[in-house]
Amino acid sequence: MKTFLKNAYVITMNPKREVYENGSVLIDGDRIVDAGFVKQPDDCREVVDCKGKIVMPSFVNTHTHTSQQLARGLADDVDLLTWLRERIWPYESNMTEEDSYISTLLFCAEQIKAGCTSIAEPGGQHVAGMVRAVEKAGIRAKLAKSVMDCGEGLPAVWQKSTQEELDIQEELIKKFNHTAEDRIQVWFGIRTIFNATDELILRSKELADKYGVGVHMHIAEAKAEVEYARETRGVTTVTHLNNLGFLDKNVIAAHAVWLTNEEVEMFRKHQVKVSHNPASAMRVLGFAKIPRMLREGVCVALGTDGAPTNNRMNMVDEMWVTSLIHKGWRLEPDAVKAEEILAMATINGARAVGDEGICGSLEAGKKADLIIIDPDCSVDMLPIHDPIANLVTSMHSTNIESTMCDGKWLMKDRKLLTIDEEEIIREGKEHAREICRRGGIKLPERFPVKRR
Ligand SMILES: [Zn+2]
Repeated sequence: MKTFLKNAYVITMNPKREVYENGSVLIDGDRIVDAGFVKQPDDCREVVDCKGKIVMPSFVNTHTHTSQQLARGLADDVDLLTWLRERIWPYESNMTEEDSYISTLLFCAEQIKAGCTSIAEPGGQHVAGMVRAVEKAGIRAKLAKSVMDCGEGLPAVWQKSTQEELDIQEELIKKFNHTAEDRIQVWFGIRTIFNATDELILRSKELADKYGVGVHMHIAEAKAEVEYARETRGVTTVTHLNNLGFLDKNVIAAHAVWLTNEEVEMFRKHQVKVSHNPASAMRVLGFAKIPRMLREGVCVALGTDGAPTNNRMNMVDEMWVTSLIHKGWRLEPDAVKAEEILAMATINGARAVGDEGICGSLEAGKKADLIIIDPDCSVDMLPIHDPIANLVTSMHSTNIESTMCDGKWLMKDRKLLTIDEEEIIREGKEHAREICRRGGIKLPERFPVKRR
């Protein structure tokens, strides 16, 4: 069962960052046999001529809410508390398991079309529905339940004790961890410090260590959050988590916007993984210290966050935003370079989710998770003077021609192979409408609309 991709511009993202012009990639089953200048074997089942095309590792989206896919456009131009209490909580608390399945499947379709084959979900609704969708779509996922054991204004269905929340998660791990040919792991989720007692934080970490999985938490996301931490714990979020002994290499800190320089050092020391979500952060969160983190040796990866915070669930667009936002206000054109951003979206992402030995680069022995890019399919990526920069600054998701995960094509020549796109679009719209109806969510109209 060998597949051979030939005549490609192969970007390996291996430790030496080697690139091969007229290179090739040999895949056998779910694994890469070799990438570089590889001889074509006689017994290939499939040979793909990639002349004029780029082959590189597929993207890893390290912070994204699969259950929120049907909430795109539900919360634009509102402050954080309105976002949460009037739009997202009513939406999420009214989801059924089937809604979660449809939402996640639609989400997966968008990821695959934008070249992403691995995601980390910080805590969504109905993990069972998410698992079913990820299994069908064929991507990798670290899934978690939305977990909260305290906080004001929580919908009644979410008011649970610390013990209840931990028990549910242990059950989910026993049921779903290492399922779907080992593409799925179940992680521990902690929503934010607003909604987590110290007991929950510490016991989640203990259990994550016991099961060999990670903890995914929104950390130092908003200014109001670090102020809340100072009021209730006496110090800002990261310092508090450091004092608790929570910071560790299996923690994904989503956003990580409000860190002091000392707190960046705490992240480096404990090898905490940062998921930088620039588009989402530009709404109300602020500028994370990404250039400093990279300089200090913190592992920074990229994430899109959820559809109602970003709207574009697309790692290609996320790379582009990353390439811009750190430069403008610093007046430093090289604050974060294209090669660093490409690493953030691939190998750093794999490291962040604990999959460095599995994917994130094209190397012998790793799983075949990769994309084929066609720069010539439209006018907007051309010409290519500086390939690595072009991928970050001018590629569009429509340039991604084919996407492979675990040695299987999930999209070939822009056609999804594991998901019926027409059907999921239809179902997605229906389910989105129904959730809003049940949750009583109605948006004010921005222009007077005439109806008949
Ligand atoms: Zn988030």
